[in-house]
Amino acid sequence: MLRFDQLSFWEREQYLVGNTFVIVGAGLVGMSTALSLHKRFPNEKILLLERGYLPTGASTKNAGFACFGSPTELQDDFQHIDEEKVWQTIALRLKGLEQLKKRVGEAPMHYRNCGSWDLIGAQEPDINSDFIAYLNAEFKMRFGLEEVYRKDPDFQAKFGFQGYQAAYFNAFEGAIDTAQMIAQLYQQCVAAGIHFLFATEVKKWETSEDKVCIETAHGELFAQHLFLCTNGFAQAYFQDELRPARAQVLVTKALAHQVSGTFHSDRGYYYFRDIGGRILLGGGRQLDFETETTTAFEKNERIRQALLRKLQEEILPGQAFEIDYEWSGIMCVGAEKKPIIRSLNKNVHAGVRMGGMGVAIGSAVGEALSKLV
Ligand SMILES: Cc1cc2nc3c(=O)[nH]c(=O)nc-3n(C[C@H](O)[C@H](O)[C@H](O)COP(=O)(O)OP(=O)(O)OC[C@H]3O[C@@H](n4cnc5c(N)ncnc54)[C@H](O)[C@@H]3O)c2cc1C
Repeated sequence: MLRFDQLSFWEREQYLVGNTFVIVGAGLVGMSTALSLHKRFPNEKILLLERGYLPTGASTKNAGFACFGSPTELQDDFQHIDEEKVWQTIALRLKGLEQLKKRVGEAPMHYRNCGSWDLIGAQEPDINSDFIAYLNAEFKMRFGLEEVYRKDPDFQAKFGFQGYQAAYFNAFEGAIDTAQMIAQLYQQCVAAGIHFLFATEVKKWETSEDKVCIETAHGELFAQHLFLCTNGFAQAYFQDELRPARAQVLVTKALAHQVSGTFHSDRGYYYFRDIGGRILLGGGRQLDFETETTTAFEKNERIRQALLRKLQEEILPGQAFEIDYEWSGIMCVGAEKKPIIRSLNKNVHAGVRMGGMGVAIGSAVGEALSKLV
């Protein structure tokens, strides 16, 4: 790979010289930040640096749920997090989803308003109807949404799942094609004159005299402001506040008996949906939190076996299936279930710790980051 000092005059002028804003990480948050910065400062030069040949974290590896919280997930949140903070995060998820739909458009990212079901396992306690009534009243009062959650008495007949005693339907959630979302954002960035250098890892940065010197694998460049949008790979800067969290996914071959919709269970730790006549199933991190606190894109066999059992016994009982795709992605979690959006100094800013909510909150985080300058 050529070093920056081997590049031509034209190349250096085009990509390296005179950048006002440099963003590290070309995932959903990095690209959203770039577009929000361009909207605020249309004449400033913006460059994204991405170490992968594709974005290589979570943004093209996720399950594509456009979701803002299942009853079991929210019930768990209310047990651990201050009530108002839970509602603030829900508000951010709803705002981010609206911004994403407005920016990309529903059709271009293949958005389907298919609804979601939170499945309650046969051995788990059912959700108290007072809690559902509380959620619905708050959603109506705070966001004007009517009857967000309702018990679905027909889910067994509709889907043929086994091992679940109840299901709560949310008509306001949906599914997207996550790679289409990123492709659309990329095209918008390119159309706006925002530049990308892929396969360019940032090694370190240093601020002096109101500018940032950014050292990459190929050489140095300068910017007035640096934005760190590296999510699960940002632990060096926020040791106590965040950690990586690997998440694993399986996709079957096309099935004879097809299911349509998005489904969660066990506080959102398991999730599955249909894609192109197949089932995508992910999750199970709670079975081995310690091993899954990693940035390694590997498989965890214990979790893989649990996912296979879930497919066999609960989601596709009595149906033959084959696994066609398997992958893992790296999320970012921490002590608090909310993103870090913060300036580290006058010239360096970070938007990280998206949890399992990045599709929902990423656009709003990008906008908030752009307002730090
Ligand atoms: C399996 C899975 C399922 C998920 N399902 C959902 C879902 O259904 N709904 C939802 O809302 N969220 C979901 N998420 C979470 C969501 O995908 C993430 O929160 C979101 O993609 C985070 O976006 P990001 O841009 O912050 O980070 P990322 O997409 O991880 O982007 C960070 C980028 O920074 C780059 N980078 C890191 N270090 C450097 C460096 N030093 N130099 C240059 N580049 C660097 C990485 O290569 C990466 O491309 C899921 C995540 C996973 C893994």
